[in-house]
Amino acid sequence: MTQDAIRIENLHKTYAGSKGSPPKEALRGVDLTIPSGSIFGLLGPNGAGKSTLINILAGLVLKTSGKVSIWGFDQDVNPRQSRASIGVMPQELNLDPFFSPREALDVQAGLYGVPKAQRRSDEILELVGLSDKANAYARTLSGGMRRRLLLGKALVHTPHILVLDEPTAGVDIELRQMLWANVRRLNEQGMTIVLTTHYLEEAEEMCDEIAIINHGQVVARDSTAHLLGSIDLKTMIIEPDKPTEVFDAPSGIDVTRDASGALRLSYRASKTSADAVLEAVRSAGVTIRDVRTEQADLEDVFLELTRSR
Ligand code: ADP
Ligand code: MG
Repeated sequence: MTQDAIRIENLHKTYAGSKGSPPKEALRGVDLTIPSGSIFGLLGPNGAGKSTLINILAGLVLKTSGKVSIWGFDQDVNPRQSRASIGVMPQELNLDPFFSPREALDVQAGLYGVPKAQRRSDEILELVGLSDKANAYARTLSGGMRRRLLLGKALVHTPHILVLDEPTAGVDIELRQMLWANVRRLNEQGMTIVLTTHYLEEAEEMCDEIAIINHGQVVARDSTAHLLGSIDLKTMIIEPDKPTEVFDAPSGIDVTRDASGALRLSYRASKTSADAVLEAVRSAGVTIRDVRTEQADLEDVFLELTRSR
């Protein structure tokens, strides 16, 4: 399929200020299309507007203005179809403590109008690894189990698009791997995945395409490979053969010293040659015991795009 899974045009959201606090402009003209079939990463620092955007997609927060289409259905024109096309695993652990996992899935399926005969509670419990807790009280579930149940709830109506808001924030490695394995499998079966994460390595590994959002605006949107290629920041790491202080280097070369005493020289490959960096080291009187270089990773791209704006 070639259609866009999600189209967002000039989306604005201003939260009304509560007592004493002014209104908050959380989204300031977001334009974004998310292709179907992808694993799409939405990255940005805390408070950037990621959850606001996701909650608008989910129909949990009302937009102030702009246009949102989900699976080709305009949210304002076809609210029911647009809601049915998307499943959202929210950032907050908002579970009803009185329902067991099986009941929670049943209630959710009912909310989405899934007929009894088409419900897949057992299959979903199996998928998220909660079969043996199917009838347990929700309050006896661990934090990790609650997260898995939230993922299950997002899947009851077999949506085309699955959205996960910080699914691995604060979860242990085992659960994280289980979540990612599930997400990959669902994507292979054709589901479009949109996720936010704080872990840039994770985004680098999981996502085909990435949008970076900062202060309510999209500041970059590209394939992961392209984004990583777009930055020509390099770091040369020099191990001096005796303890050495940071020295003044020519402009374009930024020198710091790490905890192990190695010197880290950052520079732009397009502006400064590796040779010039080495020359700067030598003219500072440093004898080099070992040298290696580091390419920019997503963390650098992210810092570059979200720094002091
Ligand atoms: P993110 O998920 O990227 O951390 P959010 O979408 O949660 O960002 O928040 C974006 C901005 O909107 C923040 O400044 C936040 O404080 C504010 N905000 C979020 N929800 C509300 C709300 N219900 N009322 C007022 N301000 C809010
Ligand atoms: Mg958030």
